[in-house]
Amino acid sequence: MDCDVIVVGAGNAALAAANSAREHGAAKVVVLEKAPREARGGNTYYSGGLLRIAFEEPRELAALLPGVEERIPGFFEDVQPYGRKDFWADLLRVTEGKTDRSLATILIDNSYPTIRWMHDFAGIPMEPATTLSGIKVGNRIKWQKGAVVRAEHEGVGLSEHWFQKTEANGVEVRYGHGAVELVRDRRARVAGVVVRGSEEVYELTARAVVLGCGGFEANAQWRAQYLGPPWDHAKVRGTAYNQGDGLRMALSLGALPWGQWSGRHSTPISNEWPDFADRERTDRSNRLSYPYGVLLNRRGLRFLDEGEDMGLYTYAKYGAEILRQPGAMAWQIFDQQTVHLLEPRYATSEPIAADTLEGLVQQLEFDDRKQAKATLHAFNEATPRNMAFDPSRKDGLSTRGLAPNKTNWALPLDRPPYLAYSATGGITFTFGGVKVDDNARVIGTDWRPIPGLFACGEMVGGLFHVNYPGGTGLVSGAVFGRIAGRHAAAERG
Ligand SMILES: Cc1cc2nc3c(=O)[nH]c(=O)nc-3n(C[C@H](O)[C@H](O)[C@H](O)COP(=O)(O)OP(=O)(O)OC[C@H]3O[C@@H](n4cnc5c(N)ncnc54)[C@H](O)[C@@H]3O)c2cc1C
Repeated sequence: MDCDVIVVGAGNAALAAANSAREHGAAKVVVLEKAPREARGGNTYYSGGLLRIAFEEPRELAALLPGVEERIPGFFEDVQPYGRKDFWADLLRVTEGKTDRSLATILIDNSYPTIRWMHDFAGIPMEPATTLSGIKVGNRIKWQKGAVVRAEHEGVGLSEHWFQKTEANGVEVRYGHGAVELVRDRRARVAGVVVRGSEEVYELTARAVVLGCGGFEANAQWRAQYLGPPWDHAKVRGTAYNQGDGLRMALSLGALPWGQWSGRHSTPISNEWPDFADRERTDRSNRLSYPYGVLLNRRGLRFLDEGEDMGLYTYAKYGAEILRQPGAMAWQIFDQQTVHLLEPRYATSEPIAADTLEGLVQQLEFDDRKQAKATLHAFNEATPRNMAFDPSRKDGLSTRGLAPNKTNWALPLDRPPYLAYSATGGITFTFGGVKVDDNARVIGTDWRPIPGLFACGEMVGGLFHVNYPGGTGLVSGAVFGRIAGRHAAAERG
């Protein structure tokens, strides 16, 4: 036997698994990272590092955010409790009740203890997610419920700290070594992998294999096959290395497909972005402040309710809506009443600006400019008068008589200069995966565990359907990675 546990992948889920395996007694753990060192870390590296966790009492966050009150006076008074019931309600609501109940129980119950473990055991520093979740009201910050903490320096910091811990923990990481096939012994146990290294193909054996090598979001063929058009054309918000390898390997051994295989997380991103994210700007492609503006497609029509909910509850499905529009793009339009609310990430684009709506429309790519002007005027006419705008909660400021209405934050566009930003739908990760049990063991189509095989992270199917509550991917990866590592370490081979 070459080692105790092989972990395939080097993102958040895989490195949680590798470190947990070490913690639980696996002497030799090898991590296989298909990407070269300079492109390591999967989607985790590109992420915003936001962590959705259940806590009954805001002061429970003190252990994750030492000294926060000195930097943000009154922090704990402005954070609302987010108990398990709240997390459940959000997950059920956004997934239209389809989330896998047993996986969701594990996710929610373990969210706080696992993030504490990442902080205390793995040494991953955290910070308040001010730019992602904080909304400034006067001189206070109102936090969106449940998504208050993030890894310090976002995904880049998270990834860096995981690698530091992994190396300090004596785990060997092989960069540029991708798993291409799972190997079974005569008892049909998974006993290793075939690896494509830099110059040779070789077999590596172990008592257990943990697959934490992401979904199929970067694979154009699989996107076309499972998500359908226009997903084969979508820009990828993260790594180019998540090509569905782990899913292919597991399915070829009889793993049970689970969850919504036609589902994916996608967000409104800048239409000026390249086909895959770059390492410098990571997730700064996002254009998520649309609840405070108006979205028009190229035909000059509105096509969704920009104010349906707080951005963190709609952003994961609105990317898809934009991608379905003509030319796979839309314009986000703001005026000076809300421009101070735009996320700092908007600074990575130069907006198109004008002193009149007509002047703005004239500069934007529209197939029907007359219609665009008419839509903006009709929108302004339909906004309510004399109601208080409150960006920190659903304020009920709704248009009347439009199809669709904007049901919150519907201020008229009447304070020039007006600004427009381009948006398209960028794919983040895919929802379909394999079925795992409570111990993160991969289940086969015979509904029995495949001995020796575990999965975690994006590869786990069933949690997310239709939509996704922001900040859950990393927590799910860490929770199931930690569990997978513990149980893989206990495999006797
Ligand atoms: C721009 C962006 C922003 C995001 N922001 C957030 C956020 O703020 N909060 C949140 O919760 N989630 C966020 N997400 C989602 C989150 O990043 C993912 O859910 C999470 O990182 C997935 O972790 P993972 O370990 O499963 O996969 P990944 O981190 O993608 O890791 C997969 C790993 O597998 C490797 N690999 C692939 N194939 C092979 C193979 N054959 N052999 C060996 N290695 C292989 C890859 O190179 C990579 O190292 C964001 C995602 C993106 C792209």
